Amino acid sequence: MPRPITASISISALRHNLATVRRHLDHAAALTGATPASIWAVIKANAYGHGIERAVSGFSAAQGLAMLDLDEAVRCREAGWGGPVLLLEGFFQPADLDIVDRYHLTCTVHSSEQLAMLAAARLSRRVDVMVKLNSGMNRLGFAPEDYAQAHARAGQLQRQGILGSVGRMTHFACADGAPGVADQLETFARATEGLSDGPVSVCNSAATLRYPETAHAGAGGPHWVRPGICLYGASPFDDVSAASYGLRPAMSLRSEIIAVQQVPAGQAIGYGATFRTEQLMRIGVVACGYADGYPRHAGTGTPVTVAGVPTRVVGRVSMDMLMVDLAPVPAAGVGAPVALWGEGGPSVDDVARAAGTIGYELLCAVAPRVPVLTRP
Ligand SMILES: *Cc1c(COP(=O)(O)O)cnc(C)c1O
Repeated sequence: MPRPITASISISALRHNLATVRRHLDHAAALTGATPASIWAVIKANAYGHGIERAVSGFSAAQGLAMLDLDEAVRCREAGWGGPVLLLEGFFQPADLDIVDRYHLTCTVHSSEQLAMLAAARLSRRVDVMVKLNSGMNRLGFAPEDYAQAHARAGQLQRQGILGSVGRMTHFACADGAPGVADQLETFARATEGLSDGPVSVCNSAATLRYPETAHAGAGGPHWVRPGICLYGASPFDDVSAASYGLRPAMSLRSEIIAVQQVPAGQAIGYGATFRTEQLMRIGVVACGYADGYPRHAGTGTPVTVAGVPTRVVGRVSMDMLMVDLAPVPAAGVGAPVALWGEGGPSVDDVARAAGTIGYELLCAVAPRVPVLTRP
């Protein structure tokens, strides 16, 4: 028998979250009479730790899937996904274009090097591209002053039969808080002025949830949004929970109590003796540590649920174990179920906050040694 830790992934939660985002977008579109935006479900990083094949199944109602690893794009095709697949960073070297061609992948084009590789490629069919603007995040994309020229170059390649559709795309740096999206939207509007052919895509989860009207930024269309984290039932925001949007956690990390210690007052718990008991305490030892992907920076007070009762982590998280306060659950002994995050436990975002990070990182970091169960 393996250790009693599992990550259980709910396909129905993935479906539910996609449908929730769908309704949110339909509602926003109805207010202005716009055509509702299509959804690229973002499944990069092994679908934020949930598994590409599970995501293909859970997001079968999405219009497209987006990721950046070419191997993950191929896995989508092999899992039977026939719809659009968007590579969020495009391709990296000329040889990648063979895969783009064979598996009919849509490419983000963010650099003149990529345009040159496309111009030199020998392909069996046209490549659909999204020309990316750096509207202020300063990560990927053409600078605003270079955008028109890059887009025009893509237009030439289109007329030469190399490219199919040529779309416009950008990415927000601060849709989850201040200063918001207004400046980047304005930069996008200015840099893409006069362009109205081809698809447009600007929104991540935070923008989709908080500024759904921006799903229709940019003339023409069709318009596409690119939500990721919210589809897994976690929040892109510090201050608003995923549950408040009606989203459900798709991943539940669970384990069990493997030992119980009765610790007298004044004793220390765990490495570094960072926590001392103030009275006699029952301490539960949980089979879950940082080698499972649980964050080591989650210190005393991090929420955890034992046998359905919320309690807290005490002391430092070690490689394979962590300790919890059993005072609120006097009946819990060895074998008692522990919900580290997800259904029946704290949200992954609450655990992340206690560890000084974000839910994204925890979901992606669940270790390969943790067995994954798929639930319908
Ligand atoms: C990761 C990513 C997204 C999705 O971001 P979330 O915050 O998870 O919604 C969208 N677009 C691009 C370009 C990305 O890299």
